[in-house]
Amino acid sequence: MMIRRNGSQPSTLGPPDSFTGHVMRTPILMADAPSRLATGWVTFDPGARTRWHTHPVGQLLVITAGAGCVQKWGGPVEKVFAGDIVWFDSGEKHWHGAAPTTSMTHIAITEAENGSAVEWLEPVSDEQYVGAKAQAR
Ligand code: MN
Repeated sequence: MMIRRNGSQPSTLGPPDSFTGHVMRTPILMADAPSRLATGWVTFDPGARTRWHTHPVGQLLVITAGAGCVQKWGGPVEKVFAGDIVWFDSGEKHWHGAAPTTSMTHIAITEAENGSAVEWLEPVSDEQYVGAKAQAR
């Protein structure tokens, strides 16, 4: 058993090769093998979002605060709110982030495959995000 106390793991700024805008990440747990669990809190300032990306074995999001937007490649922008959960299938290209004028925090739960839990792709352009803005009123 292991208990890790709140405040013992520093938050870090989300890097620009993975995120657009101001994003803070706080680790929950990167479990040791044989577990492949990779989990963390992510807080997006209004307008901030991930790049497009995929996860090798899917991803579960638990929206814990605020209002956000999620989109799979080719699909509509969907509004999400605290208490909602979102599942992305293995290899499904997508992004997630805050609503244009409201911050959003989620817990991200993934499993690594060959040591990696995510493949980062191109940024979500302002034009694509403006689409989110129009749909997420
Ligand atoms: Mn994701």
